[in-house]
Amino acid sequence: MRLKGFVDTSFVDWDGKIVSTVFVPTCNLRCPFCFNHQLILHPEKYPDVPESAVTDFLKRNGDFVDGVCVSGGEPTTARGLKRFCQDIVSLGFKVKLDTNGTNPGALIELVSEGLVNYVAMDVKAPPDEKKYGLATGTRSPKVLESVKESVSFLIESGVDHEFRTTVVPSIHSDDDVEEIAKWLRGSRLYVLQKFQPERAWDRRLRKFHSQSDSEMERLASVASRHLGRVKWRGR
Ligand code: SF4
Repeated sequence: MRLKGFVDTSFVDWDGKIVSTVFVPTCNLRCPFCFNHQLILHPEKYPDVPESAVTDFLKRNGDFVDGVCVSGGEPTTARGLKRFCQDIVSLGFKVKLDTNGTNPGALIELVSEGLVNYVAMDVKAPPDEKKYGLATGTRSPKVLESVKESVSFLIESGVDHEFRTTVVPSIHSDDDVEEIAKWLRGSRLYVLQKFQPERAWDRRLRKFHSQSDSEMERLASVASRHLGRVKWRGR
């Protein structure tokens, strides 16, 4: 699998676990607030990371590393994702998948075959075609259809998971957060993430401010009206 980044030891990518995190440099969405756009647009600027660098590190450090977080970009757009997960699992490590949920087929296959232990799935907007298109920089109604399928699958699958939304001041209202929370009823955890204006793909978003801690608390309380576990992240 083509990898363009490798953080050998991370304490922040999987709550309660120490992981190695790898990054896939491709994505099928164009979210205007994406802070990884350089990786997607100019992968040639980043050195290739051979899979062996990851597996060799795991073999040497299995006493304190719990698993691998596969992030991006969008990992399900990468060739070789399933085989890479199989390799990690066969070494005795757990796998966390970060995904935008647009490839339910791949998600279902990985979870059903026990190749993923935790899924963190982005939910970019309420289940409204226009709003989802705005938040993902896409026009295809298939995007939302696929995301809906992934949401339903994760809630019903029993696999450990979280849904997460990066809250962008010019895109998401309180009502939007509430609509997302209603959609995600039955999920294990919902995480609201602070917007990072300085790194936004769309330069027009860089004039906005990130939310304060108290603003995030307030948004989390809105979502909590409909969900059992809600938290927020961000500096
Ligand atoms: S935020 Fe995620 S899904 Fe959106 S463009 Fe960036 S990497 Fe892709």
